[in-house]
Amino acid sequence: MEINFYIPTKVIMKRNCVLDNSSLIASYGKKAMIVTGKHSASLNGSLDDVEKTLKAKNIEYVLFNKVMANPTIDLVYEGAKIAVLEKVDFIIAIGGGSPMDAAKAIALLAKNDIKEEDLFTTTITNNVLPMIFIPTTAGTGSEVTEYSILTNDKLETKSTIASPYLFPNLALLDGKYMNSLGKATTINTCLDALCHAIEGYLSIKATSLTKALSVEALKIIASEFDNLKAFNLTTDDRDKLLYASTLAGIVIAHCGTVAVHILGYSLTYYKKIDHGRANGLLLGKFLERVSAEKQELINEILEALSMNSLKELEDKIDSLLGEKEKLTEEEIDNYATKGFAVPKLKNTIINLTKDDLKNILEKSMRG
Ligand code: NAP
Ligand code: ZN
Repeated sequence: MEINFYIPTKVIMKRNCVLDNSSLIASYGKKAMIVTGKHSASLNGSLDDVEKTLKAKNIEYVLFNKVMANPTIDLVYEGAKIAVLEKVDFIIAIGGGSPMDAAKAIALLAKNDIKEEDLFTTTITNNVLPMIFIPTTAGTGSEVTEYSILTNDKLETKSTIASPYLFPNLALLDGKYMNSLGKATTINTCLDALCHAIEGYLSIKATSLTKALSVEALKIIASEFDNLKAFNLTTDDRDKLLYASTLAGIVIAHCGTVAVHILGYSLTYYKKIDHGRANGLLLGKFLERVSAEKQELINEILEALSMNSLKELEDKIDSLLGEKEKLTEEEIDNYATKGFAVPKLKNTIINLTKDDLKNILEKSMRG
C-alpha cells in the first residue's frame, strides 16, 4: 500500500465558527485584506461576521470586493498591488471558488515579484501571505486545496497555479452562509463537488485514503440529491453539502481532477457555462467510457452513491441540470483537441484518445 498525504490547513466546522474564533483569526497579524465577490458576502452575513470579529480584536482591514466569477490575471495583480500598498499581514477570503482562488494568487503576488508570463510556471517558496478562507458555496473545496485557478486569455482556458504553499492556513466552515444561495448555484456547485470526488477516484493518483474520502463525500451528496432537486435545504443540509465539498477538495488536493474538468474548462471559457454545471454536463458520458474498461471502479462509485446503474446516476444528474446547452461539431472538435493537449489528461485511470474526448462531448451535448 502506498499513501502520500498532506493537508496543512486547519479546518474548523461549527455554527458561528467565525465569531467564535476571533483570537485565532487575530493571531495571523495586525492588518487583514478581505478578498470577496461583489455582493453575496454582504448579503449572507459572512462579511458582517468577519468585520465584527476583526473590530473586536482591533485588527485593521481593507476590503477588496471586486472578484468576478472565473477571476482574471489582471484582477489578482490589482489585488496584490493594494495588499502591498496597504501593508497587510494576512488575507481573509470570503465566497465561492472565485474569491478563494483569487485570494491565493493575491497572497502569492503580494510577496513575490512574478511576471505575468511566469505566473503558472514559477517555483513558489513559502513566501506567501497567511490565508484564512470562509467558503460560501459548497463545491470547489478551494479552502483545502493548493490550487489557484485563473482565466488565462492567452491560452483561452483556465490555468492553475499549484503549490503546497498555496494551501490556506485556516478554513472556517459554516453552512449558515449558504442559505442565501439560489437553486442554480447550489446545484452547480454540488455537481462540482460530485465531480471532484469521482474524478479523484478515477485518477491514477488515487490511494485508499483518498478513495475513503471520496466515498464519504459521495454518500453525503447522494443523500442530498432529492433535497437539492426540490430545493428544500435546511442549514444542516447546507452543512452536509459543505462538508462533502471539503472532503472532495481534499481528494483533488491529492489526485487532481481528470478528463471532465479538462473538457469543462472549454465550456466555461468559450460558452460561459458555470464551472460546476460544465462538469456536470460531461460526467455521465465520461463514466460510460470508463465503465468499458474499469467496470469494477464504476461499481464502487455506484455503491457509494447507493445506486444500481450508471443510468440511474445520469438520470439524477440530468434532472438537476434541466435543459442542456448544445455544441456544434466544430466546437466539439476544438474542445477535444484542446483537452487532448493537456498533460494531466494522462492522470485519468484509462487512456483516452482525442476521439474518446470527442465522443464524450458529442454524446453529452449534441442531443
Ligand atoms: P463563484 O464564481 O465563486 O460564485 C458564483 C456566484 O455565486 C457568484 O455570483 C457569487 O456572488 C455567488 N455566491 C457565492 N456565495 C453565495 C452565497 N452564499 N449566497 C448567494 N450567492 C453566492 O462560484 P464557485 O462555483 O464557488 O467557484 C467557481 C470557481 O472555482 C471557478 O473559477 C473554478 O475554476 C474554481 N475552482 C477552484 C478549485 C480549486 O481547487 N481551487 C476547484 C474547483 C473550482 P458574488 O460574486 O457576489 O460573491
Ligand atoms: Zn471543480
